[in-house]
Amino acid sequence: AEDMECVSSVNYIMIEANKVKLPNTKLFINNQWVDPVEPKQFKTFNPTTEELICEISEGSSKDVDLAVAAARDAFENGAWSKMSATDRGTLLYKLADLIEKNKEWLAALETTEMGKPYAASLHFDLAQAAGCIRYFAGWTDKIQGKLIQSAANNLTAYTRHEPVGVAAFITPWNFPFLIMCWKLGPALASGCTVVAKPSEHTSLTALALCQLIADAGFPPGVFNMVNGYGHTVGDAISRHPDIDKISFTGSTRVGRLVMEASGKSNLKKVTLELGGKSPNIVFDDADLERSVKGAVNAMYINMGQCCCAGSRLFVQEGIYDKFLEKFIPAVQALKVGNPFESNDQGPMASKEHFDRVLNYLAIGKKEGAKVLVGGEKHTDRGYFIQPTVLVDVKDDMCVGTEEIFGPVVCVFKFKTVDEVITRANNSAYGLAAGVWTENISTAHRVEKKLKAGTIWINEYNYIHYLVPFGGYKQSGFGKDLSEYAIQEYCNVKAVILNHGPAL
Ligand code: NAD
Repeated sequence: AEDMECVSSVNYIMIEANKVKLPNTKLFINNQWVDPVEPKQFKTFNPTTEELICEISEGSSKDVDLAVAAARDAFENGAWSKMSATDRGTLLYKLADLIEKNKEWLAALETTEMGKPYAASLHFDLAQAAGCIRYFAGWTDKIQGKLIQSAANNLTAYTRHEPVGVAAFITPWNFPFLIMCWKLGPALASGCTVVAKPSEHTSLTALALCQLIADAGFPPGVFNMVNGYGHTVGDAISRHPDIDKISFTGSTRVGRLVMEASGKSNLKKVTLELGGKSPNIVFDDADLERSVKGAVNAMYINMGQCCCAGSRLFVQEGIYDKFLEKFIPAVQALKVGNPFESNDQGPMASKEHFDRVLNYLAIGKKEGAKVLVGGEKHTDRGYFIQPTVLVDVKDDMCVGTEEIFGPVVCVFKFKTVDEVITRANNSAYGLAAGVWTENISTAHRVEKKLKAGTIWINEYNYIHYLVPFGGYKQSGFGKDLSEYAIQEYCNVKAVILNHGPAL
């Protein structure tokens, strides 16, 4: 991953400490790299080494105004507004090809700044990102309204699915490049233009994406990015009167703020993809090997920094001891270390988050949870945390109800199907759930009763651009991915024409 060549035309800088070329780190408006109106920088760090990677231009509300004006102009008057849907698709296919060609570089950049294992960056994040953009490229000229055939004889009624206009994205740090692509695909396929703000912890691959967008030949103003902090740039986006739609992925706390800001400004459409505390339920008749492997995957992928992580592991009493006998060594076998080497877990993405997870561990111990595996930081350099298993957790303890967003699973024992359904649903969240059973009736009975946007049966964490993803309850509303995501970026216009008396 160290000597990656990139086909894109940007002047990359070689950072010796990390051996990965950096993209331009200014703001991206109208296909130009620009300095902020009020010149300012913020720092981004490598969570494996704690070293500074570089400084990045920090935007403000003034830069958001400029980016929105560029996006508005491209939407109303610019080349984008005149381009055929098929030509928009061709540009998206080009972008997917550029992502594919640059995948090693992008994966190395992602791992350097965010800490996820390089193999995961390359084979999951980058592969899914390119696939996602290709999938939505195919949609551009297939977005269609409907003819309402049952309207009165003298009427013709039909719908048009029109792009909402200027769409904004505010994204988190756990899948920085991928989540940006999840939103970019359907927004541009629908004909919207975009103002995006990546997480301040992980801006680099999003900056690289801007360059690829310009290289693919998208007209100026179609995609603009203002780097910076949530309480400044994110807040300005949420309040902006000329943004028509906001797609937010992040915490439930900030999701509320985005929604409030929309309500207090122009009532822009809002999609919220928020947090979770997802139940993963193993029944007595589950395949032991598969469910153990599945529960490890459910919790520890991406160091537990997955919104849909199976962080409440419910195991039925008949299989409980046998399950833990296999689950504990499987967790202990996870290798923690440098994400560029063949390790299963890298560091937490930032110092701030590392401290937050350690604090949850301290609270859990104080509340009376018993640590069966891990429970501490791992090594003194880098933001590593040991994969952790907690038992003796009561359903209403802080560690049993709040999203820890780290490699910490709480294991609960249960007796009956009805009991586990009630306990699983007893959460403010409703993002995802897992069910492990060999009994098809149990699988369906439980799946139907669980209040969550995604249910995996004998599977966990399968996320793919073909399948919609989004939550119930305080995990948010609206969908990323699949055909459903297109609807998030379209207004439906009803047209009714009276063509005179019926013949
Ligand atoms: P966060 O809410 O702290 O930040 C998310 C984004 O919001 C960042 O870009 C941040 O700068 C911005 N932001 C912060 N304050 C803001 C404000 N006042 N106004 C507008 N924007 C603001 O979340 P995070 O720590 O980056 O990510 C972790 C969270 O994201 C977890 O809760 C996780 O469950 C959630 N998540 C959800 C999904 C999903 O699809 N449901 C996917 C990934 C992550």
